[in-house]
Amino acid sequence: MTYAGVIYRPPSEARSLIVQVTTGCSHNRCRFCTMYRDKEFKIRSMEDIRRDFCEAREQYGDQIEKVFLADGDALVLSGQRLMELLAFSRGLFPRLRSVTSYGTPKDILRHSPAELKMLRQEGLSMVYLGAESGDARVLRQMEKGATREEIIEAGQRLKSAGIQSSVTLISGLGGKERLSEHAIGSADLISRMNPDYVGFLTLMLEKGAPVLRDIEEGKLELLTPEEVVTEMELFLRNVNSEGTVFRANHASNYVMLKGTLNRDIPMMLNELDEVRREKLFRRENRRRL
Ligand code: SF4
Repeated sequence: MTYAGVIYRPPSEARSLIVQVTTGCSHNRCRFCTMYRDKEFKIRSMEDIRRDFCEAREQYGDQIEKVFLADGDALVLSGQRLMELLAFSRGLFPRLRSVTSYGTPKDILRHSPAELKMLRQEGLSMVYLGAESGDARVLRQMEKGATREEIIEAGQRLKSAGIQSSVTLISGLGGKERLSEHAIGSADLISRMNPDYVGFLTLMLEKGAPVLRDIEEGKLELLTPEEVVTEMELFLRNVNSEGTVFRANHASNYVMLKGTLNRDIPMMLNELDEVRREKLFRRENRRRL
């Protein structure tokens, strides 16, 4: 297998075969993100990708059950190329039951509803979609490269094609100034998308993230753990997304929380209440990206 640079994958893909179909991220401009800053974006040749799949077949036999297509947005590939790769991997790995990838909203929308349905039929089972915020201003300030309407449409298009979606939001992305708008806008966004999964990270920045300049200049103020709880409460009080699995169990979070929307909202609000009362926050030096 040939891997170029650092490889990122969602925690739930820890047991998946990872094959890079691109290197880097075609957008690569979100101001909080440093994941692919050191990689020049490239779509790998079909020959190289097929060679990686064949090497994995030699190494692991027919044991592979899950594949994650890396890097930042495999859906930038044409529908035809993706379908070829999905069919190729199914041919090599008869036990394959899940093929997933990250997908930017713009790249999901490159594919027509009919094409997404065909990708589903060929085996694309889930897309990890970084929404980050449901507040239009925050999305603009962070140069997300997609409007809230586009993010909603991308989520809805996946859903009608039968492709599962796992949507990520970032606590604190609106800073103190946009706390309410970020929380309520994100709740509205999720309510309209009704994804299978929604996960919260909490804003943590690595050296080189452009948004650090905003913090230095006082344009963005990071939230305290108590304010993160307030933001989460606002989100939970406003969201309406029946059946969505909710997770805030990332290493960057001050507070661990999980449940199923809408059923577990009262339980999670009680937990937040207790966290605030007892100050049960993860310590700053224990947080990780
Ligand atoms: S689209 Fe995703 S990977 Fe690309 S820059 Fe934005 S957050 Fe990073």
